[in-house]
Amino acid sequence: MSDVTVKQFAEIVGIPADKLLSQLKEAGISAESENSTITDEEKTSLLGFLRASHGKDDDEAASAPKKITLKRKTHSEIKMSSTSGQRGARTVNVEVRKKRTYVKRTSIIDEERKRLEDEAQKIKDAEEVQAAQDLAKAEVEEKQQEDVKAAAALEITSQEVEQQEQAKPAETVSEEEVKQPEAIQQEVEPAVAEKVEAEDTKVEKDKKAKKPEAQPKEELDEKQKIAALEAEMGTAEGKDHARKDDKKPKKAVKKAKAAGGKEFFEEAPSNKKRAKKKGAASGDRSRFKGRSKQSASITSTLTQEFEKPTAPVLKEVHIPETVSVAELAKKLSVKAGEVIKELMKMGIMATINQVLDQETAGLVVEEMGHSYKFQSENEVEENVLRDAHIGGEEVARPPVVTVMGHVDHGKTSLLDYIRNSRVTSGEAGGITQHIGAYHVETDKGVVSFIDTPGHAAFTAMRSRGSKITDIVILVVAADDGVMPQTVEAIQHAKAAGVPIIVAVNKIDKPEAQPDKVKQALSGYEIIPEDWGGENMFVNVSAKTGDGIPDLLDAILLQSEIMELTAKKNIPATGVVLEASLDKGRGPVATILIQHGDLAKGDIILSGKEFGRVRSLLDEDGKPVKNVGASMPAVVLGLSGVPNAGDDVMVIQDEKKAREIALFRQGKYRDTKLAQQKAAKLDQFFSQMDDGEKATLNVFIKSDVQGSAEALQESLKKLSTDEVTVNIVAANVGGINESDVHLAIASQSILIGFNVRADATGRRLIESEGVDIRYYSVIYDAIDDVRKALSGLLSPEMKENIIGLAEVRDVFRSSAIGAIAGCLVIEGNVKRSNPIRVLRDNIVIYEGELESLRRFKDDVNEVRSGTECGIGVKNYNDVKVGDQIECFESYEVARQL
Ligand code: GDP
Ligand code: MG
Repeated sequence: MSDVTVKQFAEIVGIPADKLLSQLKEAGISAESENSTITDEEKTSLLGFLRASHGKDDDEAASAPKKITLKRKTHSEIKMSSTSGQRGARTVNVEVRKKRTYVKRTSIIDEERKRLEDEAQKIKDAEEVQAAQDLAKAEVEEKQQEDVKAAAALEITSQEVEQQEQAKPAETVSEEEVKQPEAIQQEVEPAVAEKVEAEDTKVEKDKKAKKPEAQPKEELDEKQKIAALEAEMGTAEGKDHARKDDKKPKKAVKKAKAAGGKEFFEEAPSNKKRAKKKGAASGDRSRFKGRSKQSASITSTLTQEFEKPTAPVLKEVHIPETVSVAELAKKLSVKAGEVIKELMKMGIMATINQVLDQETAGLVVEEMGHSYKFQSENEVEENVLRDAHIGGEEVARPPVVTVMGHVDHGKTSLLDYIRNSRVTSGEAGGITQHIGAYHVETDKGVVSFIDTPGHAAFTAMRSRGSKITDIVILVVAADDGVMPQTVEAIQHAKAAGVPIIVAVNKIDKPEAQPDKVKQALSGYEIIPEDWGGENMFVNVSAKTGDGIPDLLDAILLQSEIMELTAKKNIPATGVVLEASLDKGRGPVATILIQHGDLAKGDIILSGKEFGRVRSLLDEDGKPVKNVGASMPAVVLGLSGVPNAGDDVMVIQDEKKAREIALFRQGKYRDTKLAQQKAAKLDQFFSQMDDGEKATLNVFIKSDVQGSAEALQESLKKLSTDEVTVNIVAANVGGINESDVHLAIASQSILIGFNVRADATGRRLIESEGVDIRYYSVIYDAIDDVRKALSGLLSPEMKENIIGLAEVRDVFRSSAIGAIAGCLVIEGNVKRSNPIRVLRDNIVIYEGELESLRRFKDDVNEVRSGTECGIGVKNYNDVKVGDQIECFESYEVARQL
């Protein structure tokens, strides 16, 4: 802040301006008149001066205020056996209030005394006004609230004056609270006389509280009250001090029951306040009959207080991680000056815009007689996550099986056979590039299968905390045996604690040696059941189908043992297996449902994205109404592309979903920025610290998240003692200008996996000399980088893009299918070379040309700037705006 004038400051602090002026003068601060300004420092030194002038031996207090964090309130329980022997053990709640000791006591007492006098005056005024006039109801109410505030303040004061740790039951407080609903109900009726009577009692009490000497009396008062309550509860010795504890409703009910007898409990089992209130309001004193005189008389005093027609407005204030003084004042419905005053008492000079931490704000709230609750920033998220699995009933669900194993051992073929389709034929290089998720219905039950592009994807998902796999099928080719990735798969599965069933594949081959596989696997603690181990082994052939029913049986047997369940009738939850951006359809996410049923129209939150399920498809792309547990589904309608492994959950409230998504986005941006900075710093340091260790920065762009993930993990593993592979980023989508900028800034090589750079990106790559590499097979990329790392030499290129054509028009003919009318925009397109079809700079098809024509003539080559007609073999889905890229592959002799 901002300097204020003496007059303003006096208002804030609540003392006359001339008094403040004289205090300032005493403190040696020059302030001429009410309108002179004083600075923050001057305020601080004034505070120091005031303290010093009140206490002599306290050196610390004279200096600038010091913040000390204190434990304010602790609740504990004491269990004791009942003396009456009727109710068994009792629980006594003890509240310990610890008070700060670093603020000069005298100054507080002075301030308090002054304030109390003011309050008492107010109360007197109120009495006069009330006695003299018949005020409007609203006015009366206002007054009452004021009074009650005063009462609450007094309550605190009396405790504050004690200024030390003190264990005592806070019956007074609880009574105040207890009577408030009653007071509200009655506030219209009570006779003025009664009110005055109540106020008299209070003023009397005030007087006691005002003087520290009154403390023993106050304590006596307390004791009497406790005794009364004990009497109420039927304990003659009075050892049991039941007290309020809002956070433990059970206890409260118990207390209500003890205090009010059976009828109270029955009347309002869940609301102890009401239970007590009713007892008091109805004037039902029969329950005190036969008690000692003393307790009876005190009870009547209590009753009198119960009837006091004022209601303390006790609030529960939610305090976020940080809160400004102004915000806090608003939450408390007081002027900011009140909060500043309160802070000053704690020795904190605060301005109206000053941001307070949770602890300090909590102290202020408590000092002002209210209660508080710390609120974390992402409370909405926490609540939603916590409530996600509440309710519903457990039902059996199908197992989710992940197929793992060395490349080419037949994972995809096996799945293909199981679901009778030919997925492998369409894959580039015959290697699974995307996560496939399928379910099959067998005679004995349903099984969901997941085919991953690598173990890395499996582990990347697991590292995000989502366990989706119940069983791992380890595919080992009987003719090839245990290979490096077989071992990796075992490690990954074991780390995840997932049972492994071994499928010994290619059993149809004459050179198959299944026993050798068993032998080799036993070295990795995968022991067949018939050898006394716990792993089922099944000999299969993905080619002939031999043994596949046995494999399914083994899976179902294993899942039966596991007794897998999911919750039904709760909002659906699941995990993203795969996600990508589709030009026409927007973000497309493959999700595995884990609980509940996902339906079209549901609002879902996934990672930092959210949206309404616009379209829900099954694994074959057919629209479905809903999808149940353990089933894969394709979802359209998300706000963006989520990450593989992100949680998915249905949220009823779209606003909440958006709020959480935006919150996460903010967080994500922060971490991403931090990461980027770190990447650059890392590099900086690696060059600074030791010239020996080199860092290869890699920026990956991929068509789908799964491949990006797999590449990232595999490349990171190539790091050695001499070289570190640092993944700057691994994102989904075509390469644009800003990607290239990032690559330049982070001095990284760019890997485009099944994606290409757009025109502006290409230009920038060209002009800046960015090292960009395109791949369509993960292992090629890894291979190249590995080679590059051995001495950081430029690896041999195997592929060269020689031409690029843009589709301007598409003609369809029944005889030859689709012909794309194209313009060659770069290089040459050659009839004999392989091609790829790109959409949005993402590779969507790889194959060869059926025809290449200029006008009516078949040609072998078309140059840049020329129009031509292109027919792609076995592919009729070409669209306007697609690009056709022509490339050449060549072998480079390997250097050993
Ligand atoms: P993946 O990399 O593990 O997914 O392996 P693929 O399913 O792509 O199969 C690799 C190669 O092995 C393909 O050429 C398949 O035709 C062949 N293959 C897979 N299973 C069998 C089998 O049981 N018998 C024989 N003879 N060949 C198989
Ligand atoms: Mg495969």
